Amino acid sequence: MAFRLFIVEPKGFYSCSSKYVGMASLENTVGNVLAESLGPDSVDIIKVIDTPREDKEISKKLNCETSKVRAVLNDLLEKNLVALDRERLDTGYTYYKWVRREDKLREYANEYVKQRIEELDRSLAQEDEIMFECACRRLDYGQAIELGFACPDCGKKLSHAVSVKGSRKIKEELRRLNSIKNAS
Ligand SMILES: [Zn+2]
Repeated sequence: MAFRLFIVEPKGFYSCSSKYVGMASLENTVGNVLAESLGPDSVDIIKVIDTPREDKEISKKLNCETSKVRAVLNDLLEKNLVALDRERLDTGYTYYKWVRREDKLREYANEYVKQRIEELDRSLAQEDEIMFECACRRLDYGQAIELGFACPDCGKKLSHAVSVKGSRKIKEELRRLNSIKNAS
């Protein structure tokens, strides 16, 4: 499936010099949706913790500062998308390892797609609205009916203004999101 990102730009928390590639066991679709909703940096980290890892290990793999990696992980933790596991060794040393929550990630991706579709459906409906106008104002169909097609300010008859067709971009985006939704 070809993924194009318009309308929504991925928001990066930081940019790393190297992108981690490989061992992406999360399905592509979920990964792509997460890249769109969380930003590519979060997805890089999510991919790296295909097995529980310490934050130092993650930052080494991504060639990123540990503080930056931690900031992203904390954000993911707040969103419930990762968990922090404690592992105590016999020596007394305790490891803190990050674990990704596959079910939550999938849920998050599905919810994102659902919400985007609802948002776009709304703006599409608004754009498709038939508008009525006089010299001083522009009203939608419902408002025009309520006023009996007469302007409350100038008293003139409201005439049919151009009906704006739903934008092609929104329609394309909706097709893309619906195909993701139907595939999941
Ligand atoms: Zn008027």
